[in-house]
Amino acid sequence: TINPSISSLFRHKTHAGNHLRRINSGLWKLKAVVMGEAVASGDDQLIFPNHDFAQQAHVPNFQTYLEMYKRSIGDPAGFWSEMASEFYWKKKWGQQVFSENLDITKGDVNIQWFKGGITNICYNCLDRNIELGNGDKIAIHWEGNEPGVDDSLTYNQLLERVSQLANYLKENGVKKGDSVIIYLPMLMELPISMLACARIGAVHSVVFAGFSAESLEQRILDCKPKIVITCNAIKRGTKVINLKDIVDSALSESSQNGVNVGLCLTYANESAMKREVTKWQEERDVWWQDVVPKHSTKCDVEWVDGEDPLFLLYTSGSTGKPKGVLHTTGGYMIYTAATFKYAFDYKPSDIYWCTADCGWITGHSYVAYGPLLNGATVLVYEGVPNYPNPGRCWDIVDKYKVTIFYTAPTLVRSLMRDGNEYVTRYSRKSLRVLGSVGEPINPSAWRWFYNVVGDSRCPISDTWWQTETGGFMITPLPGAWPQKPGSATFPFFGVQPVIVDEKGKELEGECSGYLCVKASWPGAFRTLFGDHERYETTYFSAFPGYYFSGDGCSRDKDGYYWLTGRVDDVINVSGHRIGTAEVESALVLHPKCAEAAVVGIDHEVKGQCIYAFVTPVEGVEYSDDLKKSLVLSVRTNIGAFAAPEKIHWAPGLPKTRSGKIMRRILRKIASRQLDELGDISTLADPNVVDQLIALADS
Ligand code: ATP
Ligand code: MG
Repeated sequence: TINPSISSLFRHKTHAGNHLRRINSGLWKLKAVVMGEAVASGDDQLIFPNHDFAQQAHVPNFQTYLEMYKRSIGDPAGFWSEMASEFYWKKKWGQQVFSENLDITKGDVNIQWFKGGITNICYNCLDRNIELGNGDKIAIHWEGNEPGVDDSLTYNQLLERVSQLANYLKENGVKKGDSVIIYLPMLMELPISMLACARIGAVHSVVFAGFSAESLEQRILDCKPKIVITCNAIKRGTKVINLKDIVDSALSESSQNGVNVGLCLTYANESAMKREVTKWQEERDVWWQDVVPKHSTKCDVEWVDGEDPLFLLYTSGSTGKPKGVLHTTGGYMIYTAATFKYAFDYKPSDIYWCTADCGWITGHSYVAYGPLLNGATVLVYEGVPNYPNPGRCWDIVDKYKVTIFYTAPTLVRSLMRDGNEYVTRYSRKSLRVLGSVGEPINPSAWRWFYNVVGDSRCPISDTWWQTETGGFMITPLPGAWPQKPGSATFPFFGVQPVIVDEKGKELEGECSGYLCVKASWPGAFRTLFGDHERYETTYFSAFPGYYFSGDGCSRDKDGYYWLTGRVDDVINVSGHRIGTAEVESALVLHPKCAEAAVVGIDHEVKGQCIYAFVTPVEGVEYSDDLKKSLVLSVRTNIGAFAAPEKIHWAPGLPKTRSGKIMRRILRKIASRQLDELGDISTLADPNVVDQLIALADS
């Protein structure tokens, strides 16, 4: 059977915009299409949406997408106004829906959406959904680190909790525009704190509760918060982490450096640590449970302008000094709500689980705001995904009947390495959409996620976006078009990606180069906190007129976008520019390779050569034969020019706390510049560095 929605896809012709021309020129050539089955042919393998899924989807076919996309770039003001009208605005935005200047040669970079509109994102997440009749719907299911420990809050209850904290913050002098640092693990108190700040117009800055005292101090010094919200300790897996000690040291250091925070609101997480044994400073520290519940469960909303700041979030620091990315209210609200709804094909009956921590942008946009704006039921999980065993995720999926599961390639690869039995012993019948974010997902990991986890039934939304972009930029809309494993596919509404060469020339058709974005979108960040100049030089000066993402990308003959990794990581071998993602995917394709990371090192003849760190699958022995067959896998899948010069065994890889491979450190190890490793304290597990050094010549 030929999928009828697909055949209409090929007939549709349109002439608006480069992007549309590109996809038209390619996609239509496709021939035989088997419904719901994969048609294999190298990286052109297309995986078609199941017919029933497509029929019920918000965007049921490519033609509908094209019509909406065309309108979104032809008339952004009209398109986004319509989306915005679904939410509550105390006062409608001004005549001009947006204004922008992305071209530094023409003056300051400036992006504004819904200026003059008066609203509140907390009101739209909670009060509005309650008015729509969802007061008794579960807003948050909370699953604790220990199996069997759980809790939940309805929309009514969540509003009450948020209001109590908001009243407490107000009583303690937190006003509109003040910053508040939130340093909490994945307890319900984390989204509650974010929403409470938003309710009173305070600017939250969530710091991932795995960051060190120095990192926390740096952020305190930068944004000078009125108050720090934290808890005494966390349990992650079997480990207890004394959070309060870290906060104490950050607060005392920062006060010596001129920023004195007078109030530290501390949630007593008694399951991890008793109150009595927590170190305490009477004049500064207050137990959450002693003060917050005494406050009224009603709190008036502080109405704010569409362009008033909502939050600050420091990027993870995979590269250099953290940047305080600033997002404002109106555009971010509309953009996270719309991207969530379309990219996950969200329906009110869904149970949604995103494994990201609220300390990252993914947790902001797609644990808290996007889902709650849509009135969704969100699962918040406190623990680590493989505790007490690698089946935990699927145990949770079955327990709550999770329908949408959104995670990162690093987790997919690690679960794949642990074997299928941990997955297949659970039903997973409830799942209908899967998602991936954070790094390019290797096609082999994609297939495993699709075939084993999703039983070849659930489309995968491989969402490319950044802290800076606020929400999804390039992403599949499940049901609307065929997927290619490892490709983020096509741009979201309103997004105009372009691929440029070194000189900033826009490339057409099949190409590869630097990924930029032309024109603003509502979720774009507006500045780097306190450093607009760094904002302009980092993102808008390399290619004037464009937002430069820092990522490399290629577009295939069918118009699909493929992210190839950060351009800083691109390797140039004898004039061939090779993306790290491509080589790593070829290595991971090898059945004995669990994970791989490649870097470039200097080479006398070739300029650079490829140096690969490889983690074999559990139980596989290191051997020269295995090295040879790994190199062969790259030669046959990419070409001889990309063959790694050296394979370095890696029991583990250095990763950021959000799970991304830190190639900066691997480059130093590969070139044996061991005294120049730099700061390794932000690694999830700094010990892997010593292990790698020890294995350097094996
Ligand atoms: P920093 O900017 O501080 O170095 P970071 O870039 O890792 O940290 P994020 O904003 O969380 O911080 O991550 C965005 C980056 O993650 C993107 O620029 C891209 O390199 C990578 N990325 C995210 N999603 C995808 C995806 N679906 N496919 C490929 N790469 C992705
Ligand atoms: Mg980045």
